[in-house]
Amino acid sequence: MIRPVYVHDLDGLAAHAHAVRAALPRAVELLYAVKANPDPSVLRTLAPIVAGFETASRGELRRLAEVLPGRTPAAYAGPGKTDADLSAALAARVDRIHVESPAELHRLGALADDLGVPARVLLRVNLPLDVPGASLVMGGQPSPFGMDPSDALACARQPPAGVEVYGVHAHLASGLDAPTAGAVAAAVVRWAATVLGAREVDVGGGMTVDYADPAARFDWAGYGRELADLLTAHPGLRLRIEPGRSIAAYCGSYLTEVIDVKRSYGEWFAVVAGGTHHLRTPAAKGHPQPFAVHRRHGGDGPCTDGGPVTVVGQLCTPKDVLSRSADAGPIGVGDVLVFALAGAYAWNISHRDFLLHDPPEFRTGDPHRIAAELAARPFGR
Ligand SMILES: *Cc1c(COP(=O)(O)O)cnc(C)c1O
Repeated sequence: MIRPVYVHDLDGLAAHAHAVRAALPRAVELLYAVKANPDPSVLRTLAPIVAGFETASRGELRRLAEVLPGRTPAAYAGPGKTDADLSAALAARVDRIHVESPAELHRLGALADDLGVPARVLLRVNLPLDVPGASLVMGGQPSPFGMDPSDALACARQPPAGVEVYGVHAHLASGLDAPTAGAVAAAVVRWAATVLGAREVDVGGGMTVDYADPAARFDWAGYGRELADLLTAHPGLRLRIEPGRSIAAYCGSYLTEVIDVKRSYGEWFAVVAGGTHHLRTPAAKGHPQPFAVHRRHGGDGPCTDGGPVTVVGQLCTPKDVLSRSADAGPIGVGDVLVFALAGAYAWNISHRDFLLHDPPEFRTGDPHRIAAELAARPFGR
């Protein structure tokens, strides 16, 4: 029996991150949102390529301190920061703390005063944006994230003692294509500059990953040109972006073995070891996770007819669906499936204790080379 294994392709991650970096104007600070995948090997691989790391919990601060000692976190964000969280961010000398509400700003100011260190802040703003060209309205709706523009303005005009407000942070949506992300960035910068007079803007993450097309990539070059135009229009602007998914998604694969193949009322099912308690992404996002099949040498169990198949895991719930495919080809017992795009919001968001199945293993390397090796192993229960 082949145990499910996550494979991180760190060379692929480095190459991808370098390509993203190269597509952006040099002045743009590329941060990595740690919450997408906080695996130590991922952080170590990205460390020499990105300008910094965006953290959103004390756990992420600790992880960064352990994995990359001496590397100051670039940002600390997230709703519901406790006094202990804010104090930890101050103690870690986080470059910018992203503040979510006026009350949080006042608590932060008091803590900073007590500790005798200034709190360097970006105000997270929930801006109503009418994105030209995308016929899309975003932000400006009731939300736990960020402040209304009027509150942000009041905070910027009269910041509490202990606080230095440097500018604006906005992370309004995810799944943005490059033209939309560029339009959002432009609108946020325009608001920050004209209304707040701010010289610093972090326009967030949310660049899209197309789970239906594993080979597709966000148009970083096009986005880079939009950001270059912004820098030209706003000389002296300090501009940050903080993608997570679009950096890490491609470097992870989840490999597992088919345990059973059956037909139920005319439809084919393949039941694999593991499931959405290891790879929650398809359940969380509501998409079929793309996969490739490595046929098992010597496998002689039942096999699908090559038509549509639903791939499920070992959980006793009908929600444990990893994928559906119309064109995967025949899938037989013992085959090794390689689920792609499992490098972001994958293992780390999974409900790993549900049913108390064994956790997956973790390896680094080329997932298809490893899958071929596994598929060559003698077949047996
Ligand atoms: C989650 C998050 C990100 C990263 O989002 P991606 O969709 O992974 O790019 C960036 N900024 C903030 C504030 C977030 O909450």
